[in-house]
Amino acid sequence: MATSSATIAAVVKAVREDRLWQRHMDLANIGATGRGGVNRQALTPEDAEARLRVLAWAATRGFSPSVDAIGNVFIRRPGTDPTASPVVAGSHLDTQPTGGNFDGVYGVLAAFEVLEAASDAGVTTDRPLEAVVWTNEEGARFQPTTMGSAVFAGALPLETALATTDTAGVSVAQALAETMQRLAIPQRRAFRCPMAVYLEAHIEQGPLLETTHHTIGIVSGIQGLRWFRVEVTGEEAHAGTTPRRIRKDAFVAAVRMVTALQELLYDSADTVRFTVGRFEVTPNSPNTVPGRVLFTIDLRHPQAEVLSRLGDQIEALCRAQAHDCSVVVTETLSSPPVEFDPAIRAWLTQSAARQALAHMDIVSGATHDAKYMADLYPSGMLFVPCRGGISHNEAEYAAPADLAAGTRILAEVMLTLAHH
Ligand SMILES: [Zn+2]
Repeated sequence: MATSSATIAAVVKAVREDRLWQRHMDLANIGATGRGGVNRQALTPEDAEARLRVLAWAATRGFSPSVDAIGNVFIRRPGTDPTASPVVAGSHLDTQPTGGNFDGVYGVLAAFEVLEAASDAGVTTDRPLEAVVWTNEEGARFQPTTMGSAVFAGALPLETALATTDTAGVSVAQALAETMQRLAIPQRRAFRCPMAVYLEAHIEQGPLLETTHHTIGIVSGIQGLRWFRVEVTGEEAHAGTTPRRIRKDAFVAAVRMVTALQELLYDSADTVRFTVGRFEVTPNSPNTVPGRVLFTIDLRHPQAEVLSRLGDQIEALCRAQAHDCSVVVTETLSSPPVEFDPAIRAWLTQSAARQALAHMDIVSGATHDAKYMADLYPSGMLFVPCRGGISHNEAEYAAPADLAAGTRILAEVMLTLAHH
């Protein structure tokens, strides 16, 4: 049975801003630092506590939880067709060591609010509705980031993830076992179990929506990334006695390289992201000509061909600037751009227009769990503004009205797609 637009509108109307905000504040108490933020790193007792809180809310609504072997938790509101794959939305509850109260948390609570709103409106759907909590999105305690969704998607072997240790030597396997014991969810779930669609709501973590006065960002994709390690070798020499002509100064060569890179990667449209975040000088002594410099390059762009073209020029450019030094350029990481499903983006855009919310297309500068879902299922993301564009920071803040607005878009699209 097709759901009427009146039914969908009833669910949208049942989204409650006060409840959604209160839930954010409830979770903000778990791992609170006392400075307005939280430290709730993946698979800690605090992470387990936050998951338990959401599971308790789910239990009072009669929603059923399941969990997979990397600890991703799925909360299901059943549909009327038992064979239909679910419409899923979610994000993560783990945080950075000095994290905020909205990064990730919003995506989980927005999805959960849609399930609750559907129940409050007394609406049945053909497909189940699900809220997912992905394990270890942040990658602060255990690397890499987006671990749970990567394992789910088959991009990271489960054994590799489980063997990863934190700085104290505790493995994911140990920490996960403790978390799972507390959660006590009997129902197990297979990896890559089909989804009809995957959606993720998130705070923008950047300044664009706020500065352009838009409430909703329709995320077109996630930009690609290439990491390089550049090692410049010269010759250590006495700073007082060695003439310039015969110096092999690795620092001077590295500065030439960075200057040339800045020119190469200058982009008047300001889309290219280029960062030299680490710069190590050896021996780092005031009166010795540096014999060795190691620096890193983080290069990002939303278009695969631009990222390839620019990244492929880096090694030759560094060589050209090496002069009397030698240079070794190594690419250490490559992650192609993701483009979200055009049909999902269109649904989100139509919904924002129908609800008369100022909206714009936006590229995600940060990675998200949706990256891995986009390879498997029709997927999409929406952003809401966060104050000053500040995230991964205890001062992170999003307005209750904006959080609710994004949730209403999520509700409309989830409900629309939950019918055959
Ligand atoms: Zn996040």
